[in-house]
Amino acid sequence: MAEIIDGKKVSSEIRAEIKDRVVELNKTYGKVPGLAVVLVGDDAASAVYVRMKGKGCEEVGMNSYQHILPGSTSQDELLTLIDKLNNDSNVNGILVQLPLPKQIDEKSVINAIDPIKDVDGFHPVNVGKLVADDECFLPCTPHGCQILINRHVKDLKGKHLVVVGRSSIVGKPVANMMLQKNDQANCIVTVCHTAAKDISVYTKQADILVVAAGRAMTVTGDMVKDGVVVIDVGVNRITDPADSSKTKIVGDVDFDSVAPKAAAITPVPGGVGPMTIAMLLSNTVKAFEMQNR
Ligand code: NAP
Repeated sequence: MAEIIDGKKVSSEIRAEIKDRVVELNKTYGKVPGLAVVLVGDDAASAVYVRMKGKGCEEVGMNSYQHILPGSTSQDELLTLIDKLNNDSNVNGILVQLPLPKQIDEKSVINAIDPIKDVDGFHPVNVGKLVADDECFLPCTPHGCQILINRHVKDLKGKHLVVVGRSSIVGKPVANMMLQKNDQANCIVTVCHTAAKDISVYTKQADILVVAAGRAMTVTGDMVKDGVVVIDVGVNRITDPADSSKTKIVGDVDFDSVAPKAAAITPVPGGVGPMTIAMLLSNTVKAFEMQNR
């Protein structure tokens, strides 16, 4: 049976380090990093994520500024707020919770965030720097995946890492990070998506498999080889098979059939999820440091 990759534990270790760093920064600069989180509308899942991000800031001693706007907010109104946050020296990081309501163009909003405050790592400047292998804000979920992989696979050089999914938020940045020529990566990377006739052709070759498809049961036990390390990014709410009156959260991987073959696997919940917030806090500290150089 696979070793369980405990994202909660790794995340709490990283958060403890961040907390110590915030104390040091406060001693040096007489102020602490601040993260502004913007939520537009009343999507229940997004509201939970925003609350968790605020709580995460408080726990490590950072300031959190929450801007909760009505679902009817116009693009201009949101851009005006972003401009204000870009110019607020107490705000080191800006995160706009996605998705945004239909009347707002996500790309315009992301492009309006000052790249030096773009702690999500979604601004084209940071995306370009990632691809060009320059210093940048790494997107939080992919960076969390990379850290979990590094804790469980020694000597990544030449390992075949297969990513299922090519979104700009997860699949593509994971692939770009793990392709880089450094000790935390240096993998042979394959990315597959819905144009593949049969993704198992690729997933069966994986030494490390990162699954970010957004569909439960995308990868089952017959699609992986023995000894694979599996990072399941998916978050899907399904009807609980044990009790149809309830729902439960599962990943994109069929844990029950994949875990017996895997060397290590992330659970859902408790795997990648907790890492995302830890990496967001880490990026906010980095933003503070860059802005106070
Ligand atoms: P997304 O934008 O919907 O992208 C899904 C990708 O998977 C697409 O590239 C799609 O291919 C591909 N895909 C879907 N079904 C497939 C299949 N059967 N075979 C092969 N490829 C398939 O999703 P996302 O934003 O990357 O998120 C992925 C999952 O991660 C979601 O469940 C999301 O909730 C979760 N997530 C979790 C966290 C966290 O903190 N834990 C953060 C972000 C996302 P095409 O491009 O061809 O359509």
